[in-house]
Amino acid sequence: MIRNALTVDVEDYFHVSAFAGSISRDAWGDYPLRVVDNTRRLLELFDGRGVRATFFVLGWVAERAPELVREISAKGHEVACHGYSHQLVYRQTCEVFRQETLHSKQLIEDITGCAVRGYRAASYSITPASRWALDVLADAGFVYDSSIFPVRHDRYGMPGTPEHPYRLDTDNGSTLVEFPLSTARVFGYRMPVAGGGYFRLYPYAVSRAGLTQVNRRGQPFIFYLHPWEIDPDQPRIQAGLLSRFRHYNNLDKCEGRLQRLLADFSFTSTWDVLADQGLVAA
Ligand SMILES: [Zn+2]
Repeated sequence: MIRNALTVDVEDYFHVSAFAGSISRDAWGDYPLRVVDNTRRLLELFDGRGVRATFFVLGWVAERAPELVREISAKGHEVACHGYSHQLVYRQTCEVFRQETLHSKQLIEDITGCAVRGYRAASYSITPASRWALDVLADAGFVYDSSIFPVRHDRYGMPGTPEHPYRLDTDNGSTLVEFPLSTARVFGYRMPVAGGGYFRLYPYAVSRAGLTQVNRRGQPFIFYLHPWEIDPDQPRIQAGLLSRFRHYNNLDKCEGRLQRLLADFSFTSTWDVLADQGLVAA
């Protein structure tokens, strides 16, 4: 049975890109923190099934809840980096991106005492316009990245790039392992099936069929979820219709679907899956 990567982007409901126009970064401290309790619920769920996962932690969260990061690590899960400020990479300068990525990586390593080897950008924002970020990641000592969505979308995407984990040559000649977000083929089109909003939008049977298709190709898939996606009681934010739909759609169905997913597929951390593929050392 192919092992797939189970990943969580550890951020709170007020960090998401869909609300970036409604909530300024300076106001984040005014919102009640729910990420700690929600992440603990995910940890319990995973531990109950004996599943290891990868938690891409936002530096801002690591700073405010170091005990949560220690807990994730102590339970044997992989702790990786989700940047610091959740700004879209293609809206940052290379220098700002470098500084905050290094800061976030160091923060997490100081808390866990373990090397951080994996990175995921806010809203998958490594696109053709921000390919330079891959060099910054390689220079910073990351071994793998999981930020590239090989589809077309209004906020992210690198259409035409590989749909499976692969060794990627950066523009400056470094090497990084890329685990792109998973897609299935429907009538020749690439359909995102990697989790998050797609998992809440599609009926469970559609997600399962898409993910099964990836495994039938002989490839592992990577699945992602956010702690706020299993929290139907979170405070409601005033924002545009599309943003509210993307964020609030089917929050009450997500945890039940996740339990079915964990029963239907085999999961482990991103690192272990990349080792299964011979792309990193076991
Ligand atoms: Zn995020």
